[in-house]
Amino acid sequence: MLIKINLSCFFILTFSIFSFSEFSLGWADHHLITKEILRAHVNENLKVNYEPLTSFLSSTNFENVSSFKNSIQINKNYEFKNILHEESVLTLSVLEILSTYSDEPDWGMDQELFKEDQYPELWRSEYSMMGGKAGLSSQAFRHMYWRELYWKHPIQSFKLPLEKINEPMGEAHNRAQLFMNLAQQAFTLKHNYWGWRFVANSLHYIEDVAQPFHSSQVPSKIMINMVLSQCLSPYGCKDFIGNMTNIIAYYHFAYEDTLSYIFHKKINNDKDFTIDPDPIYSLRANNKMNYVNLSPAKITVLMSELANSYSARAGRASISFFPFFLGSYANLDSGSFMNEKWWITTTNNLKQDSFARRNYLNNINSMFYELGDAVRCWIDNVTAPK
Ligand SMILES: [Zn+2]
Repeated sequence: MLIKINLSCFFILTFSIFSFSEFSLGWADHHLITKEILRAHVNENLKVNYEPLTSFLSSTNFENVSSFKNSIQINKNYEFKNILHEESVLTLSVLEILSTYSDEPDWGMDQELFKEDQYPELWRSEYSMMGGKAGLSSQAFRHMYWRELYWKHPIQSFKLPLEKINEPMGEAHNRAQLFMNLAQQAFTLKHNYWGWRFVANSLHYIEDVAQPFHSSQVPSKIMINMVLSQCLSPYGCKDFIGNMTNIIAYYHFAYEDTLSYIFHKKINNDKDFTIDPDPIYSLRANNKMNYVNLSPAKITVLMSELANSYSARAGRASISFFPFFLGSYANLDSGSFMNEKWWITTTNNLKQDSFARRNYLNNINSMFYELGDAVRCWIDNVTAPK
């Protein structure tokens, strides 16, 4: 009986992820993460000259920008924006290019690809469990990688649809490889600005899959228990799926937005703000070089599998650290719950050492420790002037 209930909870929870995928599209600040990982690794004096994309393409078989976009199957209306004022600055720091453009794949290139005038042949029915066809979440299939069912972590690695349970889902590893291949082509042809920009694009995907909330369709069974326990309260069991979606979305936003807050405090050198263990230290600390000579696709898969193994801990740590929502989960709207009062409570909790705070920070730090090493190995694998 117990097994039956647990199994049906699995299904209900997993269906709820369909709508949850709306929110799960990667870290808020790739540029900050990339910069901290590479700050001491890439020579700060290393600079390259800007040149337009057409200049790189003229050395290749791509006829023009449109045929290039078609070839790598990004949104045909996407424009490669130069947000470092390249046209006027002309000479740019490689570290700036790497950090700034590690956010670029979130700027629209991977969205709305299944429309008739884009690449409808890319659609797979299982992507309905991974963000669907429309809007921002339609890019999820390229920004995630969910591993196959793994006996050591059956809850975290469980996913729907059932026919895909023994296979991985998501294209993040392939996109990482594609952009790294483009980078190598650009370096070989001596178009170093585009080489580094494509490396930055490539880094985005490994960083995305390293977010524990993004690497699992079912992060923690405690969330199921929370909804079930509400069934015994006066709120009852109405809208189980909606309640579950609200809970996961809330903890996902809390996990990520609080990290973003920590980053901004640290980077602005706020003297009143100290944090230990420090996520930025973890990004810089590990120089074991465990990922040397592995392909970008392989490193992405390894990061995702690691993040998957941390996802249950991420769920538990978030539940114990962030303010608990009192009321019907049907009314749990992250945007309004995470208001000024919520932030005052959370920042006060961040300032005091506690078991819950350490769990939250340790969870981030465990993942950042490996991510830093992987990204540095990735950069070392690039055949380019450093
Ligand atoms: Zn992303």
